[in-house]
Amino acid sequence: MTHRIAIIAGDGIGTEVMPEGIRALEATAKRFNIDLEFTTFEFGSCDYYLEHGKMLPDDWFEQLKGFDALFYGAVGWPDKVPDHISLWGSLLQFRRRFDQYINLRPCKLMPGIKSPLAGREPGDIDFYVVRENTEGEYSSVGGKMFEGTDREVVIQDTVMTRTGVDRVLKYAFELAQTRPRKKLTSATKSNGISITMPYWDERVVEMAKGYPEIAVDKFHIDILTANFVLHPDWFDVVVGSNLFGDILSDLGPACTGTIGIAPSANINPEGHFPSLFEPVHGSAPDIAGKGIANPIGQIWSGAMMLEHLGYKEAGDAMVTAIEEVLSEGDATVLTRDVGGEGTTASLGKAIADKLGK
Ligand code: ATP
Ligand code: MG
Repeated sequence: MTHRIAIIAGDGIGTEVMPEGIRALEATAKRFNIDLEFTTFEFGSCDYYLEHGKMLPDDWFEQLKGFDALFYGAVGWPDKVPDHISLWGSLLQFRRRFDQYINLRPCKLMPGIKSPLAGREPGDIDFYVVRENTEGEYSSVGGKMFEGTDREVVIQDTVMTRTGVDRVLKYAFELAQTRPRKKLTSATKSNGISITMPYWDERVVEMAKGYPEIAVDKFHIDILTANFVLHPDWFDVVVGSNLFGDILSDLGPACTGTIGIAPSANINPEGHFPSLFEPVHGSAPDIAGKGIANPIGQIWSGAMMLEHLGYKEAGDAMVTAIEEVLSEGDATVLTRDVGGEGTTASLGKAIADKLGK
């Protein structure tokens, strides 16, 4: 069975780390006998915008909807195109139209990487953040009254639907079930936000009834963020609303060292539409064009893509190859952000070579 992958590299270091992501995927596909077919698209970049006046062609949905997955680099070049245009015109369109209602980020401290949390070793930090990606606090429901007067009123509502809350909780519980520790933590703030957050808590309790083997706890978001820093070893699967998940899914990877290695997935679990796999980092204009960006975030996102396509063993092999290269600590291979003096290509090649063996 051929899996059709759409490649959108985007801007800046997105175009530099993408070839390494593909190189690692090709080596893995060969080893595990997986048939991947890559198709590259030029749209979704700021250069495309400057030429065409838009980030995507009008028929992008038709062009992409038949693919099995989107493998995405990074978008944005603020000197050329304002971020609200580049981001809203591409990535956020994909998330929305392809109903990628799960945003998934592994937070795993890798060997050879120094956590900003003192004394933490690999094994101490190994959890997932599951973020609701379509509703919640990021609704456009609300308005302004008496604008420009000293009686100004500004309101923005939080929207929680039974369907929207239940489907993200279900995904998180199912994920917890695949993990050895079988533990789920819910982010809440029902002591302060008195309507939507108690509803979220209620749905967690209801969903938990279907998963008696999962240990469930909840924390208010304020103490939860503190505990990410103080006790990252407590967590296994952490699920949050759009806003709380957004905060946690930046804090979690930050606890695991460099931004250059963190991967993410935007998932439509039913597979009605393609899911999208991308590194957490942006286009990094400050280091673009130098060939020094760390490609691990892109490669690890490729591992998540293979797992999503049903090849868990192959995805795990990619993560193991990353771990091996990092723990060998060869400075001529590693990029600067992880203490080496190598290049995007040297690090990408070392990982692909492991996979080719
Ligand atoms: P976003 O595009 O998500 O708004 P941003 O533009 O604020 O993010 P990034 O582009 O992710 O931020 O860059 C933040 C910092 O991290 C920059 O200094 C950048 O050089 C560094 N960085 C990002 N990605 C990598 C990478 N793959 N390797 C090395 N350094 C990186
Ligand atoms: Mg940016």
